[in-house]
Amino acid sequence: MSRLILISNRLPVTVKRERRGEQELSSSSGGLVAGLDPLHSKGDGLWLGHPGEQPNARTCKILEERRLVPVSVPASEYRGFYQGYSNNAIWPLFHYLIERSRFDASEFEAYRRVNERFADAVAEHSRPDDTIWVHDYQLMLLPEMIRERVPGARIGFFLHIPFPSSEILRVLPEREQILRGLLGADLIGVHTYEYADHMLRSIRRILGLESRQGSVRVNGRTVRVESHPLGIDVKSLRDRAFSESAERRLARLKRGMGDRQVILGVDRLDYTKGITFKLEAYRRLLASSRRWREGVVLVQVAVPSRENIESYRQQKDEVERLVGEINGLYGRPGRVPIHYVYRSIPPEELGALYRMADVLFVTPVRDGLNLVAKEYVACRDDGGGVLVLSEFAGAATELGEGLRVNPWDVIGTAQKLERALEMDFGERNQRMMAMYRRVVANDVHRWVDRFMRSLLQPGEPIYTAPPLLESEVLAATISSPFAHAESPLIMLDYDGSLREFTDRYEDAVPTREIMEILTELSALPDVHLFINSGRDRNTLGEWFSDMPISLIAEHGSWIRYRGADEWAHLGSPPDVSWKEKARPVLQEYVDRTPGARIEEKSSSLVWHYREAEVDLGEWQALELASLLENMLSSAPVEILTGARIVEIRQQGLDKGRAYDFVKRQYGPFDFVLATGDDRTDEDLFSRLEPEAFSVRVGGGGSRATTAVSSPASMRRLLRALIRARTAVAVG
Ligand code: UDP
Repeated sequence: MSRLILISNRLPVTVKRERRGEQELSSSSGGLVAGLDPLHSKGDGLWLGHPGEQPNARTCKILEERRLVPVSVPASEYRGFYQGYSNNAIWPLFHYLIERSRFDASEFEAYRRVNERFADAVAEHSRPDDTIWVHDYQLMLLPEMIRERVPGARIGFFLHIPFPSSEILRVLPEREQILRGLLGADLIGVHTYEYADHMLRSIRRILGLESRQGSVRVNGRTVRVESHPLGIDVKSLRDRAFSESAERRLARLKRGMGDRQVILGVDRLDYTKGITFKLEAYRRLLASSRRWREGVVLVQVAVPSRENIESYRQQKDEVERLVGEINGLYGRPGRVPIHYVYRSIPPEELGALYRMADVLFVTPVRDGLNLVAKEYVACRDDGGGVLVLSEFAGAATELGEGLRVNPWDVIGTAQKLERALEMDFGERNQRMMAMYRRVVANDVHRWVDRFMRSLLQPGEPIYTAPPLLESEVLAATISSPFAHAESPLIMLDYDGSLREFTDRYEDAVPTREIMEILTELSALPDVHLFINSGRDRNTLGEWFSDMPISLIAEHGSWIRYRGADEWAHLGSPPDVSWKEKARPVLQEYVDRTPGARIEEKSSSLVWHYREAEVDLGEWQALELASLLENMLSSAPVEILTGARIVEIRQQGLDKGRAYDFVKRQYGPFDFVLATGDDRTDEDLFSRLEPEAFSVRVGGGGSRATTAVSSPASMRRLLRALIRARTAVAVG
C-alpha cells in the first residue's frame, strides 16, 4: 500500500538533553507541524527529520511507535548545514538580503552531505510505491537525491520561504545544483504565484530549460511548479484563543491597557521581520501628535530565534536600543509607549492579544507568507481590528483588504498606521470579515488536501520521442503497403500537421497546395480519407464544403462522411450546462490578457492566447487552467492545455474514440496512416493497432512510431504516397 513519507529538517517532536537519566520530548510548534501532524497521525506513513539530541534507546522506541524516523547528523556537520549554509546563505539571500548572505564552500559541502544522509534514510525506509513529501529550504537538494535512489518515486516538495527573482538567485554560487535538486520532484509548491514565476524564470535563465504552463520537462519527466499558500489550523487556534484561560488573560490585559488603542506586533526576532522599520514608523506616529502619545500603546512580542547566529544577536541589540530610546523619549513612570516582550508566549495568551489588539502591525521586509497575520484575522470574527501588512509578505496577496505598507517607506507606514487607528467600525468590519471568510475557508487542512491531490493526480504520460525521419525516408517504408492496400485509411490532423499555425487561428485556411493534395488523395480509388481535427464543425464544413473527404470535428464529437450534407453526433449529445459557469471566467481572463480570446464549440470552450505576449499568456493560462480544474471538478469535462490554448472539453470524446467508430463503421482496413502534432492526437495514436503507421509532426515525446519535422515535410510524404498508389493503379 502507498504510504506518505514526510520529510522536514526537524521532526515534529524535539528530543531534549538528558536530565536525571531521562530524555524529554517536546512538541515542535508552528503552522507546518499543525497541518501535517493530523495527516501523519491518521495515516500509516513515516516522518523523517533531525531529532535534536541523539535519542537514547527508550526515546527511540517512543519515536518508532509514533512512526518518526530520526536522521542522525554529527553536530559539527549539522552546524555547517543549518546555521551555516541554510541560515547564513539561503535564508538571507532568498529574503533579498544579499549583504547578509555568506557563502562558504565548506558549509555547502555540509549542506550537501546532510541532504545525502536524508536521502539514504529515505532509501532505507521507503517502499517503491510510497509518496514522498519534502519540506523547505534546508532540503532543496533532496528531491534529486531521492530520485537517483528511487527513480519511480512520486515526490512533492514545498518551499516555505520566498523564492527570489532570478536576478537574486544568480548570486548563489551553487544556484545550478539547487535548481537541479528541486527538479527531482514531480510537484514543487510555493506560497504565491510570484514565487512560482520566479522559480520558473530561474530554471529557464540558469538551466536553460523552457517551461510551459508551469511545467518543465527534465530527463523525460514533467515537473510542475504551483502556488499553494499555506493556511492555519483555524479550529485549534480558536479553541485556544476563546478558552477560559484566554478570557481571563483578555480581561486582565484590557484592564492594564486602559482606554488606549493597542497596536500589536508578533514576530520572531529575525532581521527579515522589519522590526526596526516598524519601530521607526511608530516613533514617527508618536512624534506627530500628542493625541497618539496619550492614546496608543504598542505591544511588541519578539520571539527569540537563532540566538547563536551573530547577525541575530546584532538585530536583538538594535531592536532593544530602539525600544529603549522610544520609551525614554515618550514614556513616563507607569506609562510607556512600548511593551516589549522578549520570549515565546503560550497560545492562550497570544489568542488574547489577537482579540484585544485594535491594530496588528506586520512589517517584514520580506516574508514567505506570515502566519501571524492570518491568525489575527481568524480571531476577529467580531469584525473589529485592522490589519496593517507589509506588501512584501506572501500573505499580502490573500489579505488584500488589509492596509498595505512598504516598510522601507517610514513616513508612508506611519500614515497608514494612523489611518488604521482612525478607521471607523463599519469599514473595519467590512474589511475584516472579507478576510476572515477567506482565511477560514482556506485553512491548513485544505492546503494539505490541495497539495496532495495535485501531487497524486496522474501526470502527463511520458513518451519517448519517435525517430525523426526525412519524408523521403519515411515514404520509402510506407509507400508500398499503401499502394497495394485494398482498403486503406488515412486519418489526418489539420492544424500543426497539415497546415502551419498562424497567429490568428481563423487565418489558417487550407492553402492551394493542401487543397490539391487532398483532392488527389480523395480521388485515389478505395482510399478512406478523414480529417480528424479539433476545429469546430462549421469551419471545417465551410473550408472543405466541396471536397469528397470525410470530416471529424471537435476532437471526435462530430462526423460528416464524404458526400453527406449533415453532421452526425458521435456518442450521445453532450450536457453542456457547465458552459454557463465557465464562460464568464474565460471572459475575465480575456479581459486581463491582451490578445487572448474565446472560441465556442458545441462540446467545448477554448481560451486562445497565441496572440498574447508569450510570458503573460503562459502565466494566465496556468492560472486559468488550475482555476477551472477546481471550479469544474464535478462537471463531466476535462481541462486540456495545448498549443497556446486552454480547452474545456466534454469528457469521453476524443480523436481515438472517433477512430474506433470509423473502424467499426467503415473497416476493416488493411493499411492505416494517422498523423498529429499535439496531446489530443496521442488519444488517436494510443488506439491504433501495432501494424498501423503513425507520424508525429514536430519533435517531442509521442506514442507515434515515427516523426517528421514540419507540416511541409508531411505534405511531401503525402505527395509521395499519392505517386506510389497512382503508379500501381496505372501499372
Ligand atoms: N508563535 C509562537 N510563539 C510565540 C509567538 C508566535 O509559536 O510566542 C507562532 C505564531 O502563532 C505563528 C508562528 O509562530 O504560528 C510564526 O509564523 P510566521 O509565519 O508569522 O513567521 P515565521 O516565524 O515562520 O517566520
